[in-house]
Amino acid sequence: MKILISDAFDPSLPARLERFGEVTEDKGRLAEVDVVLVRSKTKCRQDYIDEATNLKLIVRGGVGLDNIDVEYARSKGIRVYNTASASAIAVAEMAFALMLAVPTRLCEAHISMREGRWAKKELKRTELYGKTLGLVGAGNIGTELGRRAVGFGMRVLAYDPLVKSHEVAQLVPLTELFEQADYLSLHVPLTDDTKGMINRETIAAMKDGVVIVNTARGQCVAEEDLAEALASGKVRAYATDVWYADPPEQSSPLLTAPNVVMTPHIGASSVENMLRIGDVVMKILEDFEQQIA
Ligand code: NAD
Repeated sequence: MKILISDAFDPSLPARLERFGEVTEDKGRLAEVDVVLVRSKTKCRQDYIDEATNLKLIVRGGVGLDNIDVEYARSKGIRVYNTASASAIAVAEMAFALMLAVPTRLCEAHISMREGRWAKKELKRTELYGKTLGLVGAGNIGTELGRRAVGFGMRVLAYDPLVKSHEVAQLVPLTELFEQADYLSLHVPLTDDTKGMINRETIAAMKDGVVIVNTARGQCVAEEDLAEALASGKVRAYATDVWYADPPEQSSPLLTAPNVVMTPHIGASSVENMLRIGDVVMKILEDFEQQIA
């Protein structure tokens, strides 16, 4: 079989994949290949799928499938898989780092030192200990974050319509989560329900001074509404790895809003996770090879 690696995977993957056939990174050969491996950059929409006339399998190294028109691909007989749970530890660590950066004032402290300022008196801190973390979505990543938060002495609540019991989080309705969370962390897929779910109305239902952490998708947040809430102090800080677009438009109000901690969508990009994703890709291809034999 012919395999196109269309986005960045672990550097060891091309050589490992050679046991299945020819491996190329030449996107111009899309029409020839049986398998395409993508992460976030390649968008597999209808025109892309129509061009890939020989395609039988799309594998997304990652969790969400929102860069793939899954229904259209399946209507053409193309199988679509992701590497669902592989990234949970990497992204949960990122979410934890973003969350911890707020009460420790890590970014401001670092910048002040770089600027030659000794801001010991002005950088008043708070702690995560004893605070309430609200997970919106309690699947793989939310659960890993919840475990870590318990280790830091946080109380963990979660809202997830599909989860009926949870090992670390107390499950509550969304309204209660908003009322009680000091830190609110998003771990939902991008769907019609979750798009723009953090908006003027839902922010109004949250605690004053809530900290919002987002390692899910930038589009879960109504950017203008959140920027307004940051300016007023209703939201104390927004710590995000994800953006409305990758990279964000320079006009995004969140780039200049106060109290934003930001990273360029690197939650899943740990070296260890790239290896883990590679292992799952290998397993998917082994199964696929057997199915078509
Ligand atoms: P998962 O499927 O294990 O869990 C998602 C959970 O969200 C599910 O339990 C589901 O029931 C719940 N959910 C769905 N709609 C909801 C709603 N309206 N309200 C509350 N809960 C809802 O997925 P995961 O592995 O935990 O990943 C979560 C998301 O994280 C992914 O969909 C992706 O968008 C994002 N992600 C980001 C990065 C990154 O690099 N920052 C990497 C991987 C994944």
